Amino acid sequence: MATNNTLETTDVLIVGCGPTGALLTALLGQFGVENIVLEKEAGVTDDPRGITLDEDGVRLLQEVGIYDKIYTEMGSSLGLVQFMTSKTDLHEAPFLKFDMSTTEGGTGHVGVISVRQPILEKYVRLATTRHTSSQLRSSCTVNHIEEDADWVYCQYLDASGEQKKIRSKFLVGCDGKTGFTRKSYLEPKGVLMEQISSFGYNETWVAMNLKLTPPTTETHPTFPLWKLGYTPDQVYNLFFPPHFRFICNAERPAVCGRFGPAADRLWRLEFVVQKGEDPMLMSSDTKTMEILMPYLTHPGISDSDIQFPSDCINVLRSRPFAFSARRCNKFAVGRVLLAGDAAHVFPPFGGQGIASGFRDASGLAWRLAIAVRENTKNYNHLFTGWFEERKQQLQVSLAKTIRNGKLCTQGNTWQFTFLKLFFRIMQLIPFMNRQVERGPRIDGMIRYHWQKGLPFLDDSCGGVTLPQVYCSPLVSSWKAMKVMFTDDVIFEKSKQGMFQLIVLLKHLPDLQATRKSVLDIDEASKGYLLAEETTFIVQHSVIRDVPIDIGNDVFRLATADEFAATESLCKGRPVPKYYDMYQMKKELRGKTFVIVRPDRFVYGACDTADELHRIIQGMHERIGL
Ligand SMILES: Cc1cc2nc3c(=O)[nH]c(=O)nc-3n(C[C@H](O)[C@H](O)[C@H](O)COP(=O)(O)OP(=O)(O)OC[C@H]3O[C@@H](n4cnc5c(N)ncnc54)[C@H](O)[C@@H]3O)c2cc1C
Repeated sequence: MATNNTLETTDVLIVGCGPTGALLTALLGQFGVENIVLEKEAGVTDDPRGITLDEDGVRLLQEVGIYDKIYTEMGSSLGLVQFMTSKTDLHEAPFLKFDMSTTEGGTGHVGVISVRQPILEKYVRLATTRHTSSQLRSSCTVNHIEEDADWVYCQYLDASGEQKKIRSKFLVGCDGKTGFTRKSYLEPKGVLMEQISSFGYNETWVAMNLKLTPPTTETHPTFPLWKLGYTPDQVYNLFFPPHFRFICNAERPAVCGRFGPAADRLWRLEFVVQKGEDPMLMSSDTKTMEILMPYLTHPGISDSDIQFPSDCINVLRSRPFAFSARRCNKFAVGRVLLAGDAAHVFPPFGGQGIASGFRDASGLAWRLAIAVRENTKNYNHLFTGWFEERKQQLQVSLAKTIRNGKLCTQGNTWQFTFLKLFFRIMQLIPFMNRQVERGPRIDGMIRYHWQKGLPFLDDSCGGVTLPQVYCSPLVSSWKAMKVMFTDDVIFEKSKQGMFQLIVLLKHLPDLQATRKSVLDIDEASKGYLLAEETTFIVQHSVIRDVPIDIGNDVFRLATADEFAATESLCKGRPVPKYYDMYQMKKELRGKTFVIVRPDRFVYGACDTADELHRIIQGMHERIGL
C-alpha cells in the first residue's frame, strides 16, 4: 500500500454516498460549501433496499432540482396502503386502508412514493454535479479518523490502492449502520446505538425483490387464463395487484407491493423469519417459493387452481435482514457527526429509513454552512440543536412505524379481532372512513417543540414545517411559467440569504407599503435575510387590476386544477386530491411575515413590520452565533 503524504484540505468531508451522504453533498453544494464525499463502492449499489419515500423526502428531491425525474425514472405514487390478514389472497378486502395518493399532507406532494433506491441515488448524485463545490470520489474507503481543536484528519484508501490524507473542518459519517465512523471512531468516545423505545423490535425478515415478465400467448400458449379472455396485462394485475399490502397474519407477518416505475414490473415481498427458523434457509429458493406461491395461486377462476408461471418470476434479491429500532445517544462529538443509518435504524413498517436520513441532511446542511462560513468555535450549539430537533422527529417517525408494526405483528389476540371489527365499521361511515384513510397524516406536519437552544421562536409559529402550496407569478412576462411550487420561488436557486422572508398578503394593494417596511432587514439580520429576496404571496387565486410594474417576486395562490393542468408538474402523479391552497395561511395562523429556515422550518412569524424587526434583532443570537 503506497502512502501519499500530501494533506488535502476541504470544509466538510462526508464518509459514504448512500442516500444520506448524496443528499448532504447536494445541499452543501447549493450553499457553496466546499465538500468531498468518499464512497467505498465503485458505483451506486444496484440492490433496491428502500422502496418507499414519504412526502418530506419527495420535497427534498424537489429541493435538489430532480423533481422531473421522480415520476419518470424513480418511481410512482404508492397509492393505498392496505392492511389485511389472508396468507393466500392478495384480493382480500382490507380491514384498514390509508390513501397515500392524496395531496393533503401539506407538502404539495402525494403522501408516499414507491421508488427504486438505486435510481433515486443515481439522480441525487447527479444533482451534486451541478455544484463545483461538491466532489464525489468513488472506490475510496475511509480507514482512519482523528481530530484536534481545529481540524478532523482522515485517511482513506483510493481506487489505486494508495493511502491518502485529507483534513476538513467537519466530518459527517453517512456510512450506514455498520459504518467505520461510528464503530471505529465514535463508539470509543461514548457514542452508542441504543434501543429507542420499548418496541425494540429485533426481528429478522427476508426481503425479496422480484422482476416480473407477464406470460403471453406466445410464451405460454396453454396458460388457462387466455381462454377466459385475459390479456398479459390483466394477468399481471390479477397476480400482482396495485397498492401496498401489510399482511397482518400471526403465522407469517409480511408486506408486499409493486415498487419503482410501473413499467419496470418490480415487486417486493418481505416476510418475518419466525423463532427457530434459519434466516439463510428461509431466503433460499425452495423456502421463498413455498411462501410466495400461495399468494400467486388463484382458485375458482377455472376448474383448477391457476398459478402465475414461475418462469416469469426473476428473483433479483432474497436476503435476510435484521430489523430493529435504534438511535445513537449523540449525533456529534467535537467536529465529527453521524447522519442517516449510521445514526439511527428503523423496522420496515413505516418506510422511514431514507426519509429520516434525508431529514438529517436537510437539518444539518445549513448548520454546517453557517459553521463553516462564520468559522465559529460555537459549533456545538448548532449541532446540539440539530440533534435535539432530530430526536423529536425520529420519535414521531418511530411512533408511525410502531403503529403499523403492532398491527402487522400482534397475531391472533382478541384485541386485534376487536380492532379489525372497529376499522371495518369505520369504513361504513363516510366521514370516519375519510379520517382513517388519512393514515399517519392525520397528525399533521412535523412540528418541533421548543426547548432551550433550538433555533426558532418559542411562540410565533416557530418550529412549524412551512407548508408548500402551488402559486403563479403575477408579473406578465413570467406567465409562460404558469404554476410553480412555492418552495421553488421562496428558495429560488440564485438567492443568497441563509433564511428567507415570506410575506403573505391578504390584499394586493397592501404590497407597496409592506415592501417598504421590510427594506432594512439586511443589516438588522446581519445578512441572514435579504430584503430584495423577499417573496410576496397574495392569499387568493384570482387577482384583478395587477399593476404593470408589479415585480417578479409577487405571486398568487394556484388551484389544484391549475396544477393538474400543468404537465411538467403533474404528469405521472395523481391529480392533487384534498389539496388546500390556504394551508400556509392556516398553519401560520394568518400571520403576515414569516421567516423560514432553509430546511423548511419556520423560525418565527408575526403580524406587523415592527414585530418583524424585533424578531430579527435576536435572530443571530438565537441561532447560537
Ligand atoms: C431490506 C431493506 C428494506 C428497506 N426498505 C426501506 C423502505 O421501504 N423505505 C425506506 O425509507 N428505507 C428502507 N430501508 C432502509 C434504507 O435502505 C436505508 O435507511 C438507507 O439506505 C440509509 O441510507 P444511508 O445513506 O444513511 O446509508 P447506506 O444506504 O447504508 O449508505 C452508506 C454508504 O456508505 C458507504 N460506506 C460504508 N463504509 C464506508 C467507508 N469506510 N468509506 C467510504 N464509504 C463507506 C457504503 O458503501 C454506502 O454507500 C430498507 C433497508 C433494507 C435493508
